[in-house]
Amino acid sequence: MGTYRTVVAPFPCEHCHATFASDVQFKTGDDRDMQRYEQGQSVAGDPLLRPGSVFEAFADRYCPTCSGLLSRDSALLVRAALFELVEANMLVLKRYGVVLTWSELLALKNGPWNSQPPHLQEWLSGRSLSLHFTNEVDDQTFQATGSAAVSRVERRSTQLLAERGWHTDSGVIRDDLQVLVSASAQLWATLPASPNVA
Ligand SMILES: [Zn+2]
Repeated sequence: MGTYRTVVAPFPCEHCHATFASDVQFKTGDDRDMQRYEQGQSVAGDPLLRPGSVFEAFADRYCPTCSGLLSRDSALLVRAALFELVEANMLVLKRYGVVLTWSELLALKNGPWNSQPPHLQEWLSGRSLSLHFTNEVDDQTFQATGSAAVSRVERRSTQLLAERGWHTDSGVIRDDLQVLVSASAQLWATLPASPNVA
């Protein structure tokens, strides 16, 4: 990540559409001081921020409230996707090669779950579990298909997130912003569709 400068600008959250004070980050090549600016602040005299300069910029796609909701939904929906596919008999959970019983499954399903999105493979490994496609006849093929079964769950949880209005394909950081220095040496962070502020 390194160092960068920040313009604090009011931008809309892509989930709730409320305006929030977004930290828009950009790099000039010398950002050791991690300068922070207000929207429209004068930067006259800074040789790295000459009038007419344009910088690519990054910011959180979602406001802090929605970021928290997304984190919670991601965690819940990975679990929902996992048990949906297991209960639909498309995937099988095993411990040391033995298929889990329904009561073992139920205990896992209702047991504690991270509030942060878990890395599914780590979650499985931490419980000595492995995930298989139902039509696998033995564990010989597991090395080849175990990660595919995990990917199957992750794809389903992405679908469930989309059904709740989260479009996570493009990530939680948006990189389509610009920071520009106007002719009067004011610094502006802009959305891609905004007309130039001159
Ligand atoms: Zn929001």
